[in-house]
Amino acid sequence: MAVVVQKFGGSSVATPEKILAAAQRAIDAQNEGNQVVVVVSAIGKTTDTLVALAEQISRNPPAREMAMLLATGEQVSIACMAIAIHALGAKAISFTGPQLGIVTDSSHLKARIKSIETAKLREALDGGSIAVVAGFQGIDEKYDITTLGRGGSDTTAVAVAAAIKLAGFDVRCEIYTDVNGVYTTDPRIVRKAIKVDVISYDEMLEMASMGAGVMHSRSIEFAKKFNVPLMVRHAATSEVGTWVVGEEPWMREVPVCGAALAVNEARIVLDALPDRPGVSRAVFAALAQVNVPVDMIAQNVGSGGKASIGFTVIHGDLKKATDTLDPIITELGATMTVTERVSKVSVVGAGMRHVAGVAEKMFAALAANGINMKMITTGDIKISVLIEEDVPPPEDDEDDAGTKKSHLEAKRAVRGRLALEAVHDAFGLHMPRSGAGVAPSGYRPRPASAVVPEARERETAVAKLDGMEDILVSGVHLSSDQSRVTIFDLPDRPGHCSTVFNAVATGGILVDMIVQNITSVGKAELSFTVPRADLPKALKRTQDVARSIDPSCRVVGDAEVAVLFVLGVGMRSHTGVARTRMSSMPSSFATAVSRSRASGTTADAGRGR
Ligand code: ASP
Ligand code: MG
Repeated sequence: MAVVVQKFGGSSVATPEKILAAAQRAIDAQNEGNQVVVVVSAIGKTTDTLVALAEQISRNPPAREMAMLLATGEQVSIACMAIAIHALGAKAISFTGPQLGIVTDSSHLKARIKSIETAKLREALDGGSIAVVAGFQGIDEKYDITTLGRGGSDTTAVAVAAAIKLAGFDVRCEIYTDVNGVYTTDPRIVRKAIKVDVISYDEMLEMASMGAGVMHSRSIEFAKKFNVPLMVRHAATSEVGTWVVGEEPWMREVPVCGAALAVNEARIVLDALPDRPGVSRAVFAALAQVNVPVDMIAQNVGSGGKASIGFTVIHGDLKKATDTLDPIITELGATMTVTERVSKVSVVGAGMRHVAGVAEKMFAALAANGINMKMITTGDIKISVLIEEDVPPPEDDEDDAGTKKSHLEAKRAVRGRLALEAVHDAFGLHMPRSGAGVAPSGYRPRPASAVVPEARERETAVAKLDGMEDILVSGVHLSSDQSRVTIFDLPDRPGHCSTVFNAVATGGILVDMIVQNITSVGKAELSFTVPRADLPKALKRTQDVARSIDPSCRVVGDAEVAVLFVLGVGMRSHTGVARTRMSSMPSSFATAVSRSRASGTTADAGRGR
């Protein structure tokens, strides 16, 4: 029998009426022939209220007692939900995290799930009850109550679904929230934005890291690791939401499926750094130490023994970052320049791995609107461009907290909005992405095998459950047949990058990694990699076009470059991955370090958690 795990967030159980409506949904799913597990968050803003209560008592409450306190919120919800289900004539049994056997590590307020027992759950389901499980909480080996970090109920829901799946059942997970699904971009900023019918885990992860925060990255990583199909949908309507599933071949035919704008960032450029191993590591280790997440990172190729690195931080962290870096910069004899207000526009899509000219299209759309690019980085399925904002928000107390607030800021970020609209149009994102032979609105993920696994498979399933949330590097991908083209001293004006990539793309050359960084003297350094066989052609085209822009720019080819991608699950939600990766990366490989999927982590880890 298929199992449906339905997760209701705090806003979806905020009133008795909403609790009854959620209960009815669970009963409906059961009546359709499914076994149903409901995972609930604390009612409304209960968790915030509990945090505030503790703060009134003590400035520094012990973590163990905070977890004890916060876990009460979800205990109220599960009881109310079970009462509601009974009132509507069906059977329900509620479970706290500890009762169910959601075992975590001992980090009381940011616990990671180690394993989940499914015996009690099975017993309840097989007895015809709806199992109601408290989100956000677990128990450690000392029998202490733990919590998973703010917003952790999504993670509970996906983890429970994964555990059920590993026990051999066909499972899907529905995330009920206050939006209709995942949109091509924030519809409050770009009115033409549309709901996406199906998106891959990787695309969803990139969207989440770009600021399209419908779900916690951590829970999407979990879903990917255990291949649990998810649907994000509105709690108050019957409209079908967005499926989040494993990558399907038809997704690769369309290069871009979404775009996003992140405002309120600041850029720091470190110039004249000694070009030797360990320097970047020292810089990023220092920032990690004071908990300043770094987002985009672009390291220049460097010449004459000197290198420069540009990166972005949240504007609210700028002072902390510069204070931390000041002594290091002085010691290294380097310089630091800051650009206060920048916005980041990104596009994401699984198809860009296979389609040429994606970057060119994006840059051309920006150039056509007179928008200058201050920094470019690329990931496996993402391109991000940093642009300068001219309109500073009136107040200066941003903390990157509520989405409503950041939405207001996004509205003020005039140039960012213009850029986002231009990019959304250029890729025709207002048109549904249709797949080969798939009618997206009628999409159902292929059911996982409903067969109970053999004993041996069961054993591996149990082994997999152990350390459920551990980081999993699924692949280190090295393309050693790449070459790099670098343009030094490209004048920093709108349209130049676009002209260069147009020249390269019209030669049919597939550009892989792109890094662009502006030095403090207003010159851009632009590097990109191409297949080695295409180097002579790419070099010739780049030289010609660069000369036509400004005869004083230099173009250099480097035939022997390798691009290293570290792919995996858990990288976003574990801190310090970029740091570790940089320190372990032989310096002879790609001296241009782009923020690939691996290092996305540092950016995410500090935000909203
Ligand atoms: N109630 C918890 C919180 O507000 C968990 C959740 O809502 O997912 O953070
Ligand atoms: Mg909540």
